[in-house]
Amino acid sequence: MEMNRLQLPRNMIENSMFEEEPDVVDLAKEPCLHPLEPDEVEYEPRGSRLLVRGLGEHEMDEDEEDYESSAKLLGMSFMNRSTGLRNSSAGYRPSAEGACSVPSARTLVVCAFIIVVAVSVIMVIYLLPRCTFTKEGCHKQNQSIGLIQPLATNGKLFPWAQIRLPTAIMPQRYELSLHPNLTSMTFKGSVTILLQARQATWNIILHSTGHNISRVTFMSAVSSQEKQVEILEYPYHDQIAIVAPEALLAGHSYSVKIEYSANISSSYCGFYGLTYRDENNKRKYFAATQFEPLAARSAFPCFDEPAFKATFIIKIIRDEQHTALSNMPKKSSVSMEDGLVQDEFSESVKMSTYLVAFIVGEMRNLSEDVNGTLVSVYTVPEKIGQAHHALETTVKLLEFYENYFEIKYPLKKLDLVAIPDFEAGAMENWGLLTFREETLLYDNTTSSVADRKLVTKIIAHELAHQWFGNLVTMQWWNDLWLNEGFATFMEYFSLEKIFKELYSYEDFLDAQLKTMKKDSLNSSHPISSSVQSSEQIEEMFDSLSYFKGASLLLMLKTFLSEDVFQHAVILYLHNHSYASTQSDDLWDSFNEVTNKTLDVKRMMKTWTLQKGFPLVTVQRKGTELFIQQERFFSGRKPEIYPVDASYLWHIPITYVTDGRNYSEYRAVSLLDKKSDIINLTEQVQWVKVNTNMTGYYIVHYADDDWAALITLLKTNPYVLSDKDRANLINNIFELAGLGKVPLQRAFSLMDYLINENQTAPIAEALFQTGLIYDLLEKLGHMDLASRLVSRVHKLLQSQIQRQAWTDEGTPSARELRSALLEFACTHSLENCTTTAMKLFDDWVASNGTYSLPTDVMTTVFKVGAKTEKGWSFLLSMYISIGSEAEKNKILEALASSEDVRKLYWLMKSSLDGDIIRTQKLSQVIRAVGRHFAGHLLAWDFVKENWNKLVQKFHLGSYTMQSIVAGSTHLFSTKAHLSEVQAFFESQSEATFRLRCVQEALEVIQLNIQWMEKNLKALIQWYI
Ligand SMILES: [Zn+2]
Repeated sequence: MEMNRLQLPRNMIENSMFEEEPDVVDLAKEPCLHPLEPDEVEYEPRGSRLLVRGLGEHEMDEDEEDYESSAKLLGMSFMNRSTGLRNSSAGYRPSAEGACSVPSARTLVVCAFIIVVAVSVIMVIYLLPRCTFTKEGCHKQNQSIGLIQPLATNGKLFPWAQIRLPTAIMPQRYELSLHPNLTSMTFKGSVTILLQARQATWNIILHSTGHNISRVTFMSAVSSQEKQVEILEYPYHDQIAIVAPEALLAGHSYSVKIEYSANISSSYCGFYGLTYRDENNKRKYFAATQFEPLAARSAFPCFDEPAFKATFIIKIIRDEQHTALSNMPKKSSVSMEDGLVQDEFSESVKMSTYLVAFIVGEMRNLSEDVNGTLVSVYTVPEKIGQAHHALETTVKLLEFYENYFEIKYPLKKLDLVAIPDFEAGAMENWGLLTFREETLLYDNTTSSVADRKLVTKIIAHELAHQWFGNLVTMQWWNDLWLNEGFATFMEYFSLEKIFKELYSYEDFLDAQLKTMKKDSLNSSHPISSSVQSSEQIEEMFDSLSYFKGASLLLMLKTFLSEDVFQHAVILYLHNHSYASTQSDDLWDSFNEVTNKTLDVKRMMKTWTLQKGFPLVTVQRKGTELFIQQERFFSGRKPEIYPVDASYLWHIPITYVTDGRNYSEYRAVSLLDKKSDIINLTEQVQWVKVNTNMTGYYIVHYADDDWAALITLLKTNPYVLSDKDRANLINNIFELAGLGKVPLQRAFSLMDYLINENQTAPIAEALFQTGLIYDLLEKLGHMDLASRLVSRVHKLLQSQIQRQAWTDEGTPSARELRSALLEFACTHSLENCTTTAMKLFDDWVASNGTYSLPTDVMTTVFKVGAKTEKGWSFLLSMYISIGSEAEKNKILEALASSEDVRKLYWLMKSSLDGDIIRTQKLSQVIRAVGRHFAGHLLAWDFVKENWNKLVQKFHLGSYTMQSIVAGSTHLFSTKAHLSEVQAFFESQSEATFRLRCVQEALEVIQLNIQWMEKNLKALIQWYI
């Protein structure tokens, strides 16, 4: 799935000085979950929390979190029973402490005994997290079942208590028939599942939610006689149990047929319906699916976990004028009564349920054959003219991937469909890729270079998933990064290879640096993290799974060489085709290729199983380079967060110096201990570590070495690559945030920008200074904020003056223009607003037909939106035009208004979903929250509508993560910190414990600390 580019993670991250175009569109990804029952939302595992606390720690570690989830899976009944153990374990501690305070031999023995008992209890709790607690403690499983058995809706005992399904029964093949009625928003369905028993059992447990099940029949392969059977429902876990009329025997096959009806969903998950108006303003109905991660179960009863792979035969009854699409090519169409048609699709390859998809609606397509695969792009009829770019791009990428992976794309067709209302950025359903209109369609007159890059990248991402994710799938959501990290890595890698002119590495660098900001927080998590509950699974869809995952693969590829990397990837895909894997399977493939010359598994586990990343400190003494590593902490007070000395990474250290063949001299060595010495073999003037930022770490240099690099940048910056220059700007500002480098030195390094002409370093400088500007502005330090702008302006002045208001130049140059003119117009520099206003007036005079340069369109619209008339005209255009690319630019401009009534209206309208689609809401809230006029308003809106937001987007989802961050990340006072904290504390404990909430609080704290640390310095040396 494509979650839509990075949500800029930490404080300040979106800033008014450098608006990031992709952010607009990239709001995508919405993992899908069934709406939580009200009591489920309210459910608070307080008992287990206290129990864990009783054992010692204040901060819960990973195991404890596991333990808590397992407590949750036991259901409410667990809570009532936990008190006994809580009391007994709490009783151990004081006695142990008391006994040990008298050091006699007898008490030592007693003490040792008690410790052994205490450790045993803890071990039991940790190692057997799913057993049941009663007053007596932990019982054997069979004993416990009777004690905490969950109850089905009919009051009978439900035979399964866990969130994860049992593995006694494996689905082999589904035959699914659906008859949707798009106007009444209901559907009838029937699913026949062919099953195989692995172990003897009486019960078939599978997922189903929101279905009205009318009839269930059972048939064993031997008797071939249908028997109607009983069904038990346990909505708390979205599960049903079919009680078989006979014992199911290991190795035998059976089938069950379930007939049901349900509502077509009005959210963005499961099988959902939507309406849109065509060019004649006629209302049209459309239905699509979004199953990842947990919503297939709401469309049809199924074994809805990624490792339960099976084949699917899908039949859909539709109206004549509609088209139906599914993963596989259509096999037959049969006319029925009342003008209905039944389409049947070929049996699918073996795949996971979250990849199943079907779509019904009026569509047109463009197609092209690629080596026996028919590639088609589908849109609603009036937008087919915007499909050419996507088709061309897909054809090139498909050929590239087939060659690179040495595995042919296995299906006969590949459809890409632009859905008129879609929450995620895109979704990789096998053979039927779904997109937002803005992430697939390209309009020649209104799409900017950033739009083109976005469409290209997202197609590349979803296509890569056809191998990474679809052909080889992670076993469970804890390893989501295997899917998403790889697809994200391949997205940039493939663009580098076949669309080199797009300079996509600039976007990757930017995303990587912002991901590291998020990863440096205490609220971060290892990319391979244990997950159970729906919120935990939702939360895995964050920039860490995507961009940290991809960054680690880039680091590994650089370290091993491109050839070795490719061989290992091919081996992995061949070995595990149509199967499911864990991270270790990937590392095993690498180890097979490296042939034990390097233990890749050992090395990479230090990156996937630990959160955060290293700070590498470098000091040059003569020809020796002393290096050491520690965990990079984002500006925390050491007394609150002591540095954990146990963190250790295996770091490929790369560096470049002026030695030998000048900049050609690059070297690499692996730092797998706390400190080491690298011999440079000769005296050098300077050394830059982490060449081209291929490593996932930040580098701090000794004073002299920083000084040497700053001098180098001032005298001869182009000795270093643009990536290295951007990397140095990033690292020194991050270190200034920690107090490791004076802020003044960071600004002094940046002074070289007067000679900079490339996009990556300028973008990073605008970003870093934009963060500071945003905080100063929101605190009312306008004098300091404008002096900061003057300083940056002085550095970029000649670059800004060089810009023309056109779409000419390379993609990179065009993006630079976009950033510079946006900066200039935002701060009314260099006659920028005058030129923009003139362009805007021409555009209005032509009634929106005059063709504006696309890369500066947002800037022009923002200037135009400042007047009452301009804003209203933009809104009327927003309502009437058909290009999503243009609408996005207008929406950004509308949301930049300083009129709070307008801002409130925008947020309200996108929540309603009529004039502005609800898929846009998080983007609108973020845009409003970024500006001075709206930053308090956005937070008020979120508070006021919290329950509605949760209902629409679900707790933990990417959209909610984005909304929480976007409405709080610019707060930097203690009053706001308590206000945000109090609000979330007043919600359920599950809400307060969400990572995005913890992150929001941490970011505000960091903003406060940053100001405490640097405000004085800014005032003093700035004047
Ligand atoms: Zn993806």
